[in-house]
Amino acid sequence: MRRENRQRIARVALDVPLDSLFDFVANDIDEADIGRLVRVPFGKRTTMGVVVEVADHSDVDTAKLRAVEEVLRTVEPIARNDLAVARFCAEYYHHPLGQTLLGSLPPALRTARAAQILRSMEARYFAVTAEGAQVDLDRLPAKSVAQRGLLSALKAGPRAENELAAALPRFRPALRALLDKGWIATAQKPAETAQAPADPSPSSFELNEEQNAASAQILEALGRYQAFLLHGITGSGKTEVYLQSIAAALAARRQALVLVPEINLTPQLEQRFRARFPSASIVMLHSHMGERERLQAWLATQAGRVQIVLGTRLAVFAPLPSLGLVIVDEEHDPSFKQQEGLRYSARDVAVYRARQRGCPIVLGSATPSLESWSNAASSFDGSGSLKGAAETKAAQSRYRLLSLTHRAVPTSTLPAVYLLDLNREAAREGVAEGLLRQIEQRLKRGEQSLVFVNRRGYAPALVCQQCAWVPECSQCAARMVFHRADRRLVCHHCGHTSRVPARCGECGSADLAPLGEGTQRVEAALAAQFPDARIVRIDRDATRAKGSAQRLFDAAGRGEVDILVGTQMLAKGHDFPNLTLVGILNADASMFSADFRAPERLFAQLVQVAGRAGRAGLPGEVWIQTRFPNHPLYAAVQQQDFAAFADMQLAERNMLLMPPASHLVLLRVEGRKPGDALRFARGAVDLTRGHARDVTVFDAVPAALERKAGWERVQVMAQSRSRKALQNFIGEWRKAIAGAAPRAIRWTLDVDPLEV
Ligand SMILES: [Zn+2]
Ligand SMILES: [Zn+2]
Repeated sequence: MRRENRQRIARVALDVPLDSLFDFVANDIDEADIGRLVRVPFGKRTTMGVVVEVADHSDVDTAKLRAVEEVLRTVEPIARNDLAVARFCAEYYHHPLGQTLLGSLPPALRTARAAQILRSMEARYFAVTAEGAQVDLDRLPAKSVAQRGLLSALKAGPRAENELAAALPRFRPALRALLDKGWIATAQKPAETAQAPADPSPSSFELNEEQNAASAQILEALGRYQAFLLHGITGSGKTEVYLQSIAAALAARRQALVLVPEINLTPQLEQRFRARFPSASIVMLHSHMGERERLQAWLATQAGRVQIVLGTRLAVFAPLPSLGLVIVDEEHDPSFKQQEGLRYSARDVAVYRARQRGCPIVLGSATPSLESWSNAASSFDGSGSLKGAAETKAAQSRYRLLSLTHRAVPTSTLPAVYLLDLNREAAREGVAEGLLRQIEQRLKRGEQSLVFVNRRGYAPALVCQQCAWVPECSQCAARMVFHRADRRLVCHHCGHTSRVPARCGECGSADLAPLGEGTQRVEAALAAQFPDARIVRIDRDATRAKGSAQRLFDAAGRGEVDILVGTQMLAKGHDFPNLTLVGILNADASMFSADFRAPERLFAQLVQVAGRAGRAGLPGEVWIQTRFPNHPLYAAVQQQDFAAFADMQLAERNMLLMPPASHLVLLRVEGRKPGDALRFARGAVDLTRGHARDVTVFDAVPAALERKAGWERVQVMAQSRSRKALQNFIGEWRKAIAGAAPRAIRWTLDVDPLEV
């Protein structure tokens, strides 16, 4: 055999649920192509993959190997660093590398059409003609907004079609019109100009002493790995600390990655960043972007043309060649955990990335996760609550605690928190008399009130007054929620809807009444009580139309609303300067959940909602309705003492050996036929007999929601104080389960589950 016939083999990761790489012949490929996207045949279809290794031989008979169809050389290869992140995730979360890797890319790059999409995006460039340069923008008809926008953009220099399309509404017709007039023409791609570093942040932003001290510590750590936990009370100006740190990173010609919870990624936040860094290139990355827009942002980031990436959890995989700072705002927020496919925690992956790239990471929150809090624990006191957690103690990655204990606006103070004892107090449609009186006072003074109800709909259930029958979803083990406006029952788990029954399904009585309160019912009750008040409801039902939430928030910000009623959509990020009262209904509901994290989540939520009151000088008050006024959780909320609450919780977790005192994995099993899931889960427990070293495996139990969308759900928890022991165990267990699972069973392993 002649030597030049020797074949080169590309080992390719594919988006398939298998752990292996796949070999393809690719003679024009070498080591430099590792990380490149390739189009390959797979079965009867064509799919995209990523070259992970390049070799001279294959264990498969090379005569049987198929060839790579196309190497996408128009995209830079995925950097080795980023491949390593995918590898880490695949190993740690026990998920196939191909799915992990491809899943971290923009969807447009995962389709077999990727090359076409990229070609179409290479796109044409446009520039003004000599004639167009003479045109006075003001002479264009006022209604030609799109043409004005396009012409003024091009007067500043040639621009790519796709960028213009993303930036300008009604771009196409305007483009045609200006081409017809001869004012613009296609142009050469302009030479790349290096981005100027952003202006160092203007010092007109007054930081208080604590903010200054926090910023100084972060700045001092630029250029090396250090994790910071920025614990700041609501309104303490954490964002200002972020902005200062980002300014410093940008000045050092580094990129900054800023992760925020889904609900916080608002136009206001984007505006705040753009206003602060006017000459920096900022992109957003989140799942609601158009395919091309997201690809565009990703490519610009990869090319180093972007200085700040502002995004939700998926942005943690953004390709950042010169990453210099990572920020995770509201680090405790559950939306950082992906709940399907690769069940990663973006916060934890962000910490990995910061360490890998040798840069600081700032985890910020008013109510940190107990995991992060205990990681910072040794640096603030010796309360002893963590002494049992040997591993936590041994961890080298101690977080440094930065505390902001004052509100940034000096005249603003934390609101006073009061409890309304529902055992003594009458309530109307769920709103206590005492709270109604408080709202009335605010109305008289022309101040705003916010009423927080963590349930949308009119009432969480309908109930027969004769026999207590309650309509349930036919697909889920859950009650149907009553939506009065459209007279429907809706399942909030699977979306199933049905008409409100005229009679009880059990005894035939027509006497059906709503049970409990949702946002709609509270809104109606307040409207009846205060007919002249301007009341606005903010929840998922009321804000379905794009931009409607923003309009409502803007109106509230301008003082055009007297009472806001809503779910946790209200709780975050929005400042209403005139808001002085927060009322919290049905907080008790989550107190008796089986999930050991329920109190932690409730505390975070209460603090967050309470923090809306009294932000701008006017003193705020918070009134919480409860049947359990003596519960220690409420006492901690009243004192707004996170450390006390955290100590109490950590002591409990230590005793129960729950995270962060241990590590968990959850096997979730779903089956269609009754009993299938439970039988299989029990079998999975049996599979662990004998080789669960240093790992405790619990019995199979029904999930909190036993049936969802027609699937029966069962779970098995395994726990260990040693992360390493648990990791080894998961590897073995996964193989065993995969070997035993019939097709009719769906199962996943959730490492570090957030909801149990
Ligand atoms: Zn009945
Ligand atoms: Zn349902």
